[in-house]
Amino acid sequence: MHDCTGVHPTDSTSPAAAVGYTRRAPEETLLYQLVAQNFDGFVADNAARGGILPWFVRREFDGFLRCGILDHGLCRLYCADCQRDRLIAFSCKGRSLCPSCGVRRMADGAAHLVDRVLPKAPVRQWVLSLPYALRFAVGFDATLCGQVLALFIRAVQRRYRRRAKAQLGLASVRQAHTGAVTAIQRFSSSLGLNLHFHSLFVDGIYLERADGTAQFRTVPPPSRRELQAVTDEVCAAVQRLRGLDLDSVQFDACRDRTAAEPLLAACAGAAVRSR
Ligand SMILES: [Zn+2]
Ligand SMILES: [Zn+2]
Repeated sequence: MHDCTGVHPTDSTSPAAAVGYTRRAPEETLLYQLVAQNFDGFVADNAARGGILPWFVRREFDGFLRCGILDHGLCRLYCADCQRDRLIAFSCKGRSLCPSCGVRRMADGAAHLVDRVLPKAPVRQWVLSLPYALRFAVGFDATLCGQVLALFIRAVQRRYRRRAKAQLGLASVRQAHTGAVTAIQRFSSSLGLNLHFHSLFVDGIYLERADGTAQFRTVPPPSRRELQAVTDEVCAAVQRLRGLDLDSVQFDACRDRTAAEPLLAACAGAAVRSR
């Protein structure tokens, strides 16, 4: 097989260079330079005051600083036809900081959903963003995050089922089944801590028939009133969780965890305020 449409690194003046493979040079990006210049000092300063970052945070930063850098390991590809070499640096496969690995994971995830998970049916995206008061707690406490997500999913599910029952004259909402997948996004466009949910719902319901098979039926798009009702429902249910008060920042909701990881908690608190 010959697929060397790219150009050898020394060929950068040839016209084909424009379409060929170019090493992405992460070390030239602003993000890389900021992390490379400041991360070790940040860790050392905090260590001097007794603050230790959890190992998984260090692993992400260390991996990011090695990702795509030839010095830290590479694969050499050789094409027998044009007798050229190409050097491809290993990647960190990180899940948080590294933009390159994040985008690849996103593309892989999207292809997986489209090719293997989502049925051939219309899909609607539902997004739940959270009040500031809750962002710190859900960003820090995975159990709470899961509980809030479950409440959101159930509220949207109920909306589809109620609508289907009324529209199709069903005896019970139990005959109507829904489906959704959710991506949890932890950051805002300014890289502040802003955990929110992007949920893809099949835009309708599967009607269970007597013989056990399912038939897809569309449901009209949600009205403003329905969206408000879903929001109110989620809001009330979330406030009942652990007696959360959405008018003040819920640092106490995960006190056990913040006590165990004070430096991480301080970073999360600053990130909520985008500082
Ligand atoms: Zn070749
Ligand atoms: Zn990476």
